[in-house]
Amino acid sequence: MTPLTWDQARALGEHLAGETSAVVTSHDDGAMVVAGTLLRTLAAMVKGAEPIVDLVLARGERTSVTLPTPLGTIVVLARAASASPVAYARTITHEAVHAGQVQRLGGLQASVDYLGSGELRAVREADAYAAGLWTEFLLTGELPVLAGLGEEHAAVSGLGHLQVCHRSLLSTGGVYGSSPP
Ligand SMILES: [Zn+2]
Repeated sequence: MTPLTWDQARALGEHLAGETSAVVTSHDDGAMVVAGTLLRTLAAMVKGAEPIVDLVLARGERTSVTLPTPLGTIVVLARAASASPVAYARTITHEAVHAGQVQRLGGLQASVDYLGSGELRAVREADAYAAGLWTEFLLTGELPVLAGLGEEHAAVSGLGHLQVCHRSLLSTGGVYGSSPP
């Protein structure tokens, strides 16, 4: 299988950003400060959201975030997303699923669901992880290992959502197809 090039990975990112009306920025301190302020503002409106936001921000450069704003959806990619074209493609696919959720539900509802409900957060993450890992499988032909789950932002909901995610992948066939790990 021909390895994915950076040009191809970026083209995929641009396509997905266009489809979901999102603006993608790479990780830098300025972008994360803005993202942190937006997250705190959203969290202030949702009961119980504070610990989630703390966890997201504590992961710093390992965290990608997708944020609804009045000006549109912003995706801030983790520094880890630039490790390789495949890592970029997996991460941008994952975040594009969140951007699609924002597009479908509206920014406020998506935020309230995500920050206010562990169950809904798990469902939204499961969908995003499934898409990201499926993309990686298509690009590499290799079944993702469970240890890779959570690279994007596992801390958001801890192990709980990974278990739900895992179940979701298995129950749908997902990335594991007929050979679950
Ligand atoms: Zn996610």
